[in-house]
Amino acid sequence: MRFGRDGSGSGGGVRLTARRRAVLVALSGLPGPAGASVVHRRVRADGERIGLTGVYRLLAILVDAGLVGVTKDGGGRHLFHLRVDSSHDHHLLCGGCGRAERVDAGCVLGWAETAAAAHGFRDVSVSIVLSGVCPECGRAAEPGVDR
Ligand SMILES: [Zn+2]
Repeated sequence: MRFGRDGSGSGGGVRLTARRRAVLVALSGLPGPAGASVVHRRVRADGERIGLTGVYRLLAILVDAGLVGVTKDGGGRHLFHLRVDSSHDHHLLCGGCGRAERVDAGCVLGWAETAAAAHGFRDVSVSIVLSGVCPECGRAAEPGVDR
């Protein structure tokens, strides 16, 4: 994956306002499909002052844009989920010793949806590897440190 400009998606498709983005971020942090009231609680917990009706409206817009998928549970209740494949693990990888740490990539998945939508892509799969040097290898590389 290449890191482009800000991927705000203001060009085509849906415009990602702060609130729409907040809904995507909330969805990305949920373990699975969730009802609007769950999404609402989550968005509120993240600091957005918005009513349940507003969240419904945002979800409808995001569903139309293909960013969010919707299914129905047994009772006919709508369940919403992010349309990214977030099943992959995301890792920090040390170039020195090969140590890999799993990292939480919820906010990046929200960004990935935004960036993908800006180009009209759907069902985007995301796999993230951050390469660097782990603390041990970092210390070993410092001059004058005797191990
Ligand atoms: Zn290392």
